[in-house]
Amino acid sequence: MDSLIKLKAELLIHGARVDETLYEQYKKQNPREILKTGNNGLFVRIAKKHEVMICVSHKKNAESPYKLVYDEENNNSYIMNNGVQLVNVEIMEIPTFYNNEIGQKKFHEVFLFEGFSYFHIAYKGCDFFNRKLECKYCTTGKGQKNKSISSQEIGAAAATIDTEHNYHICIGGGTILPQDTNIKFGHRDYFKANMDYFVQAISEIRKYNATIPIWIECVPPYESDIDRLVEAGATSFGFNIEIWNPKRKSTICPGKSEIPREHYLKMLQYAVECVGNNKVGSSLIIHGTEFDEKKELLVAIKELSKIGVHTCLLPYKPFTETKIIGKCDVDLFYEVNEFAYECYQKYNLDPFQNEGCMLCSSCTILLDIFKSKQNQTYITKVA
Ligand code: SF4
Repeated sequence: MDSLIKLKAELLIHGARVDETLYEQYKKQNPREILKTGNNGLFVRIAKKHEVMICVSHKKNAESPYKLVYDEENNNSYIMNNGVQLVNVEIMEIPTFYNNEIGQKKFHEVFLFEGFSYFHIAYKGCDFFNRKLECKYCTTGKGQKNKSISSQEIGAAAATIDTEHNYHICIGGGTILPQDTNIKFGHRDYFKANMDYFVQAISEIRKYNATIPIWIECVPPYESDIDRLVEAGATSFGFNIEIWNPKRKSTICPGKSEIPREHYLKMLQYAVECVGNNKVGSSLIIHGTEFDEKKELLVAIKELSKIGVHTCLLPYKPFTETKIIGKCDVDLFYEVNEFAYECYQKYNLDPFQNEGCMLCSSCTILLDIFKSKQNQTYITKVA
């Protein structure tokens, strides 16, 4: 196991304590402390090699063996563990337009900084929470005023993104469900409100920027919805299965599990047909005890790879307010990523051709494993 990648894996799982200076840096990156699915933290690069988003604001992070420290005298920051200084960290700089005004909002209330490579629409909540059917590991929208973001604001914010840098945009995170609760999965209008919003948002972005990659992340809609999104200008997709075993998933994601795994696989495959190879992905959450079993994870990774779908392997982290106990097992996390590397080789998948979340290496270790094994430069270059 590469020792730096192992350190990164541990930082992803445990988060870190931070001093005041570095907590301020975190707040600059996420001024409203938007919780997303819970996966919020400080974006840094460790040892000049690995980009990491380190959770610093959740209660459990205070128990982390790791601490990030700013050294004022030498103007650098580093990671400590048990009194031992490990490696230096660089804090990722927010772009100059991040605090621009977009109508009544700031840019960062429309799009959140997600490291070097992309902006994710700021999370505002999820209707599965409103129906008390939320995923138990998720905290999206918690404690936030549920201000919506209009498609015009999305377009106006996208127009200010610096085109030199080749950023990507992600739209998704939180599901919009029909107001009529009698409309269930299988009804032609089940995804309509969500899709209408996405199509309008994409169309607004395309008014100002014809080429920026747009990654769409949502529960998998129907073929005709995917057609609409592609026609509007979507270039890549993530339909996140999260938990492979349907029985386990029904207890952890009671809302999302109303959509069968077969539908996820069918639509993932359809999305690959629509946008081409290496542009579609699905997240799986690694826990090691309650969520999954190793053999199920390996089956999931292989089945997804076979149909040309990349796997975003996320370690479970104990965010404040989540309802799952325990932490991801670091050895299991590393092992399934090694297995994913083998599957990508076998099925001829190239993770560096993907977009949005799947191209960002801040929350996962698969891209680091690729770079390490293939001796590539470690700094993300967005194509
Ligand atoms: S679908 Fe689940 S993971 Fe996604 S935002 Fe809603 S509750 Fe969170």
